Amino acid sequence: MVEIHVIPVLNDNYVHLWHDAAAGVTAIVDPGEAGPVQAFLEERGWHLTHILNTHHHGDHIGGNAGLMAWSHATLIGPRAEIDRIPDMAETYGDGDRFTLGSQTVTVFDTPGHTRGHVAFYLEPAGLLFSGDTLFSLGCGRLFEGTPAQMWHSLLKLRALPDDTLVHCGHEYTASNLRFALSIDPDNPSLALMADQVARSRAANRPTVPSRLGLEKAANPFLRADDAALAAAIGLAGADPVAVFAEIRQRKDHFRG
Ligand code: ZN
Ligand code: FE
Repeated sequence: MVEIHVIPVLNDNYVHLWHDAAAGVTAIVDPGEAGPVQAFLEERGWHLTHILNTHHHGDHIGGNAGLMAWSHATLIGPRAEIDRIPDMAETYGDGDRFTLGSQTVTVFDTPGHTRGHVAFYLEPAGLLFSGDTLFSLGCGRLFEGTPAQMWHSLLKLRALPDDTLVHCGHEYTASNLRFALSIDPDNPSLALMADQVARSRAANRPTVPSRLGLEKAANPFLRADDAALAAAIGLAGADPVAVFAEIRQRKDHFRG
């Protein structure tokens, strides 16, 4: 059994934490800053054992050094970003698996946002740490990759079970929702998620994690191979990569 927490840091980043008391593992994903994480752990008397990074951006690794100096935690990250993230003790790439306490972690290379981005999938807990690849109702900007790369990265994550909980790197859901509704207004799954998002925000709770099954039905960036969505944006019959590229570009220019 693992206990999961989502800790807000910086403007809209989330640090994800799992605590596996029986195994003596307390691990975090993407500490954008150290202070709030350290305070959270001190309050509970938990000893930080592992830090995982999905990619090298400062809002995901900014807390590494401070937390490692404080705890001597082991830093784990993407092999393809070995020259961009200092002090990694272990690096992994696509298809690698490793064990942390009761959990088996599977690594997926998910290039697109950065060229070396990875996602981590935990079994049996059924947790996906998707960084800035897959957001709730959105996906990361293509800073270093092509639409084809990002689409294939997203397909790897879409293949995971519907009951997977998606723990992404940012609270972007409300603005992603406005964009999704602008191109896909009649999607009933989107309406369901709109309801959930409104309730979470009214209660000042994170919208993260979300259920992957619902993302598959509602997130336009996971539906570039859906004929109805392609038709809705004027690309009936087009290749999914072309549809994905068009949706991504529209989102880049969306003002909602
Ligand atoms: Zn990023
Ligand atoms: Fe980020």
